[in-house]
Amino acid sequence: MEQTLSIIKPDAVKKGVIGKIIDRFESNGLRIAAMKKIQLDDAKAGGFYAEHKERPFFGDLVAFMTSGPVVVMVLEGDNAIAKNRDLMGATNPKEAKEGTIRADFAESIDANAVHGSDSAQSAQREIKYFFSDNEVL
Ligand code: GDP
Repeated sequence: MEQTLSIIKPDAVKKGVIGKIIDRFESNGLRIAAMKKIQLDDAKAGGFYAEHKERPFFGDLVAFMTSGPVVVMVLEGDNAIAKNRDLMGATNPKEAKEGTIRADFAESIDANAVHGSDSAQSAQREIKYFFSDNEVL
């Protein structure tokens, strides 16, 4: 069993599609092992995306991720990391395949509805960034 971190970003929370997105995960064999709705501040969002600190879009990314509440989750299942990335679709919703979360619920490369860990190493770091061991059940 593999675990991955998922975030439903502020655009999708504002649109009221939390349930529809979670249904994509549960219908495709991913179990919700942990979940909470939180408001990120600059430090928490900036630390999460630290690998992008030098990128030109970093300021916009932090501003967007702090623009409203997010839902953070640990998803668990066989090949959870790759499965979640497949369900999400390409980073830019305009390039995302039909039927993916980003094709169906996202507007732009900033407001792209969801985050998903991209490797086992980042999944481990990202899960610990938001959850203590006794919150993952
Ligand atoms: P992801 O793993 O598919 O989320 O993509 P990345 O890890 O490469 O980027 C993290 C997040 O930064 C993406 O989900 C986007 O919201 C944002 N992002 C990436 N590239 C760009 C860009 O060129 N411009 C802007 N404004 N945001 C970007």
